[in-house]
Amino acid sequence: MKTRFAPSPTGPLHLGHAYSALLAHRLARDAGGTFLLRIEDIDQGRARPEWDAQIFDDLRWLGLDWPRPVLRQSDRLPAYRAALSALWDRGLLFPCTCRRRDIEAAASAPQEGAGPVHGPDGLVYPGTCRGADRRGPLPADAVLRLDMRKAAEAVGEVGFVEEGSGPGAEHGSIGVLPDTLIHQIGDVVLGRRDMGTSYHLSVVVDDAHQGITHVVRGQDLFDATAIHVLLQALLGLPTPRYHHHALIRDAAGRRLAKRDDARALATYRAEGLTPLDIYAKIAAQIPDFTV
Ligand code: GLU
Ligand code: ZN
Repeated sequence: MKTRFAPSPTGPLHLGHAYSALLAHRLARDAGGTFLLRIEDIDQGRARPEWDAQIFDDLRWLGLDWPRPVLRQSDRLPAYRAALSALWDRGLLFPCTCRRRDIEAAASAPQEGAGPVHGPDGLVYPGTCRGADRRGPLPADAVLRLDMRKAAEAVGEVGFVEEGSGPGAEHGSIGVLPDTLIHQIGDVVLGRRDMGTSYHLSVVVDDAHQGITHVVRGQDLFDATAIHVLLQALLGLPTPRYHHHALIRDAAGRRLAKRDDARALATYRAEGLTPLDIYAKIAAQIPDFTV
């Protein structure tokens, strides 16, 4: 078994991250497997060296360890471009020049049927640029979207094994139908102009590259998993097992966000809390988490 914790250095780690990392670490340890840390820093506009250093510091303080060297996604651009090229050469990508407000306007234009649909990345793309030229080499400086209808038809039904629980407590074998991919997810962005890749593409390429067998992460990413298993099928990569876990919430029941510094591990540390206090805070919300 190989698990990973894959934070982005765009803010402080909070209680939810601590739970995710501890769970991934424990699952691997209990199975005699390996736990990896991976730094997901493709968004160089938002990543900060201070946050990066703080991640290592916080995780070590919590008692975790992992093999070095740690993979940094900012070093892996050529691998992501190779994967994009493979999809581009099959005509599965198209360049998109829409701005956010164009997408909002097109998605909410009056048409027959239901109103705008929200998918894992926000509004389902209305298809404006699908007719763009797909010939020639992979465009270097463009937003690249997946042609979801073509992709879904190429692979048919995809699926994965859920060992944790989805938001509606889904567990076991989860199938994702082409119809769901086309209508509920749509033409997601796989290459962002400013970074030449995207979260979805990088995470899939790296989980395979590192031989991750169990992806442990929050239920907030459950819907994105459908995109990831589709990409695995398209790229001929193995599908790991998934363990989506419950989210840690604040006193008002909202899930924690990076911007909530109040629950940052660094804040608790500065207030004199110990790692055991952090474990106890997690256990107070997660019934089967043992301190
Ligand atoms: N880097 C992502 C985040 O910090 C998580 C990656 C994953 O678990 O797939 O939200
Ligand atoms: Zn477009």
